[in-house]
Amino acid sequence: MKGLFSKLTVICLSAMLLAINSQAATNQPGIVLTFDDTSTGLWHNFFAGRTDNVRATFFVSQWHTLSAAQIQQLRDLQNHGHEIGCHSRNHIGVGQYLFDPNRTLEYVNTEVIPAIRNMNNDGFYPLSFSYPSGERNENYDAAIRPYLPYLRTTYYDPARPLAQNDQIYHNSDKVYAVLAGASLDNRYGVTIAEIEQALIRAKNNHEIISLYGHYIFDDASGDADSQYAIRASKLNQIIAIAQRLGLRFYTFHEAFEVQNQLIPLPVSSAGSVNNTGTATAPPDAIPQTNNNNGGGGSFHLSYLLLVFALKVRQSFKKTITI
Ligand SMILES: [Zn+2]
Repeated sequence: MKGLFSKLTVICLSAMLLAINSQAATNQPGIVLTFDDTSTGLWHNFFAGRTDNVRATFFVSQWHTLSAAQIQQLRDLQNHGHEIGCHSRNHIGVGQYLFDPNRTLEYVNTEVIPAIRNMNNDGFYPLSFSYPSGERNENYDAAIRPYLPYLRTTYYDPARPLAQNDQIYHNSDKVYAVLAGASLDNRYGVTIAEIEQALIRAKNNHEIISLYGHYIFDDASGDADSQYAIRASKLNQIIAIAQRLGLRFYTFHEAFEVQNQLIPLPVSSAGSVNNTGTATAPPDAIPQTNNNNGGGGSFHLSYLLLVFALKVRQSFKKTITI
């Protein structure tokens, strides 16, 4: 029995390794541009008229407060190939739940499922979620993932330039359950030169860099230098550098999937991969296997297997240096 189990394990791991290896070639170096909250008009002004291959992801909070015109702006962006993700119903962070592992169900039922429902009612089927204020932990990841499998948080390290912040880069060799983005907002004072170095690293290492912002103001605006904004001219410069380097503009879910093909999509959630299909509404309660034990049923097991497979693969690669 034991021998049979070992053989099955080897077969399973071999299949997983093959699957992972076959993805490596598809992992082009790239950039993920994401924007949070509700400034749909500013996003639409900047992105909707573009005819190039620049793609961004917009994580929208407070969907129930949007006007019909704002929803149409988001629909327009989606039709241009951009992704519309979820950023909670009321923009309440996990910090306000004291990161309490016993309140994950409450958080999901208050901040996640109602937000998805509101989006579904307007024909949007999000797959991705960004945590308000970047506040998260593994318990909340496990609770949200059955509904929105692709999770984004934030990362900031004032002691290092962006090019040395490993946390904001990923590729098909990296194991991750959440991706972290660095901020483009004025308040962090990141220079174009620093961002250029960060993009060069992504190109050289075949990595994908994740970035996030909020408002995008024209330079002539009185708010152009406000804390949570980036100037349109600066964003255009960043995009031009990425294009010059030949980086691919990934939407968030595309970027997340470079490694995580093996992680099953949620049974109950919200949508098709292309963000436009029909889908059933989420159920009223979270499945028992995804409660506040930090567990996560089938995903948890798959994820552990994935981690193990990648570790084996890494040690295998070390023995056959090419
Ligand atoms: Zn936010």
